[in-house]
Amino acid sequence: MAAFDFEVIIAGSGPAGVSTWLHLHKLNPDLAARTLVLEKASHPRPKLCGGGVMRAADILLGLLRIRIKVPSVSVHNAEFRYHGRRFYWRQENFFRVVRRHEFDAALVAAALQRGMVLHEREALMRFELLEDGVQVYTEQTSYRARVLVGADGANSVVRAHMHLREPQRLARLIEVLTPTDPTRAYEFTTHTAVFDFAGVDEGLQGYIWDFPCLENGNAYINRGIYDSRYYPKRERADLKKLFRAGLEARNAYDTTQRWQGHPERWFDPRATLSQPHILLVGDAAGVDPLAGEGISFSLGYGAVAAEELVEAFHHQNFRFEGYRKRILSHPLGRALGQRRLMAAMCYRGWPRVLLTMFFIVMGLKWR
Ligand SMILES: Cc1cc2nc3c(=O)[nH]c(=O)nc-3n(C[C@H](O)[C@H](O)[C@H](O)COP(=O)(O)OP(=O)(O)OC[C@H]3O[C@@H](n4cnc5c(N)ncnc54)[C@H](O)[C@@H]3O)c2cc1C
Repeated sequence: MAAFDFEVIIAGSGPAGVSTWLHLHKLNPDLAARTLVLEKASHPRPKLCGGGVMRAADILLGLLRIRIKVPSVSVHNAEFRYHGRRFYWRQENFFRVVRRHEFDAALVAAALQRGMVLHEREALMRFELLEDGVQVYTEQTSYRARVLVGADGANSVVRAHMHLREPQRLARLIEVLTPTDPTRAYEFTTHTAVFDFAGVDEGLQGYIWDFPCLENGNAYINRGIYDSRYYPKRERADLKKLFRAGLEARNAYDTTQRWQGHPERWFDPRATLSQPHILLVGDAAGVDPLAGEGISFSLGYGAVAAEELVEAFHHQNFRFEGYRKRILSHPLGRALGQRRLMAAMCYRGWPRVLLTMFFIVMGLKWR
């Protein structure tokens, strides 16, 4: 044992990494105390995101006795647009819109208060598998650990160094914040988030979103375009063209805007989720292909990974052969399975009938 610097190293302190540590701390505080979290940035760090935090995420954090109090806009109505029709899902506090740098920093602060050891500005560069563990090389030094958890997001270095020969399953996203008047903007006055599927007819395997949000006390609409690429062989939609047209239709386009893009990985039950001494969580493993919802799913991964870790240390068996099954039989895996089914329905290539059917099956009201 003395040969190991840490039992577990978690690369990444986004929702997936911190949730893994928090659940480990709940299940086995000793193991959590012998865990190191590495973070290449330092909190509050920028994170491109719509910031839609579903109620399920807050409930999951509530089970850990954590409440993330950051500036948020409550969303009570989700408006789905397709073919000139508007479908609605109405639910009090359906989700809230946060700014991710604030949300993630608050989550990290809660974990630090419970004793999480975090090395910021120390990126994992690579790792080597050993017979009984893993040697982790960072920008500064190297550590020996039993297990490495890859919680380092969609561009996961851990995943890249697993040398997997399988499809990437990467969605493409572009986002921009546009200033708005909260006393007049529809999204603010009616607490509505818009999901516009018009681009599906032009090959988009996703939608354009408009979420009301607050940045430094000022009102903005967080606007973005999501293309799941769930069917990668289908022709790529012209994302920039579609996004520009969407912004122009909303009178929200301006040539000085700074658009930013970032990928997201979606879940496939056949994909690699672990190797001996390695577990993947969050965007490094894969999240929702339908809507690109990743925050609640990443928090959910933490619960599953912590259970897997505790059992592995109990049996001193680090092959993680049961991790996939554990994910699939957990509510996390079942929810991801439903999202896959819906993504297949919506993005297959004959969207009109399927999307309309999907909205009706979901019981959404339209007008
Ligand atoms: C444009 C966009 C909009 C989105 N909108 C929404 C939304 O509205 N609602 C929603 O639920 N989801 C949304 N998502 C998805 C969501 O952001 C992700 O699914 C979620 O952040 C994944 O959490 P994670 O902890 O796995 O990864 P991340 O949040 O990406 O965290 C990974 C962490 O690892 C660190 N890191 C990276 N490399 C290394 C390394 N080599 N060593 C150490 N640390 C490293 C990073 O700095 C980061 O802190 C959106 C995504 C994008 C791109």
